[in-house]
Amino acid sequence: MARSSEFADSAVGALYDRAAHLPLEQLGFNLHVGYWEDSQDETPYREAAERLTDLVTKRLRVGPGRRSLDVGCGAGGPALRVARATGSTVVGVNISREQLAFACALAEREEMTDLLSFRHADGTALPFDADSFDAVWAVESMPHMDRARVLREMSRVVRPGGRVVITDMFARKPAAEARQEVLERFREAWMVGPLASIGDYPALLRDAGLRLLELADLTEHVLGRSLPSLAGPVDGAQHTSAGPAGAEVGDQAALAYLADLAEGGELGYLLLVAEYLPELTPVP
Ligand code: SAH
Repeated sequence: MARSSEFADSAVGALYDRAAHLPLEQLGFNLHVGYWEDSQDETPYREAAERLTDLVTKRLRVGPGRRSLDVGCGAGGPALRVARATGSTVVGVNISREQLAFACALAEREEMTDLLSFRHADGTALPFDADSFDAVWAVESMPHMDRARVLREMSRVVRPGGRVVITDMFARKPAAEARQEVLERFREAWMVGPLASIGDYPALLRDAGLRLLELADLTEHVLGRSLPSLAGPVDGAQHTSAGPAGAEVGDQAALAYLADLAEGGELGYLLLVAEYLPELTPVP
């Protein structure tokens, strides 16, 4: 099957394994952007990152006795926060084994293993039965995956009427010729496939049997603010082993490409909410 990303999942896993040097404690075990209300909002990164998780949490519609799946769960911070806030069970999957180890240790340390569990899996081939979760979510993991495939998998494992909540990066405007190089460098450093435009999502969701409920452009609230606020914590972090790319996740250089594209207006950030309706599933 054709992939929309040229990066193998195992390579993405190894990329995040190498990012294990990040100051996770300081980041609240979050590997996603923060959310700021407006330009006056001086909230520090960690709290702003938790706010973003809370935007997702509210939309999951889960509570005690319910179970959700976090696809591309990073180091477990968001899954822990969702489980705590809702009293629901959260299963996190990740292609990076190093990050999974951090997530498992976090669940133990926080005495949350009754509600939280993590396992190694590829988001585009989920090892779960159909209809086995009340909600399925993905925070910033889609850029690394084939969108159509992961959406079909999310749709398959969520129960009818269950929520799918996603945050993703998107192409806000096409990169001009002179900006192609920075876009390529960004994609290489982060192992990100081609970005979709916001207008591509309704059809992507429809093809996966999902009904779109909300599609919000959060760019102004997240990108420009997250990068300067991350510069401090990430500054002291050093890779323990050098990766094949000059710049990669967790490096200042990789963050700089992101900042450049955010500033240039080429890169956007969205939040989407959908529900699984079996009657929408296209007949093969
Ligand atoms: N959702 C987390 C982490 C975001 S970083 C958070 O918000 O903190 C992106 C994550 O996606 C990384 O943990 C990476 O290992 C994971 N990932 C990338 N490709 C994946 C795939 N094919 N299957 C599962 N996880 C994947």
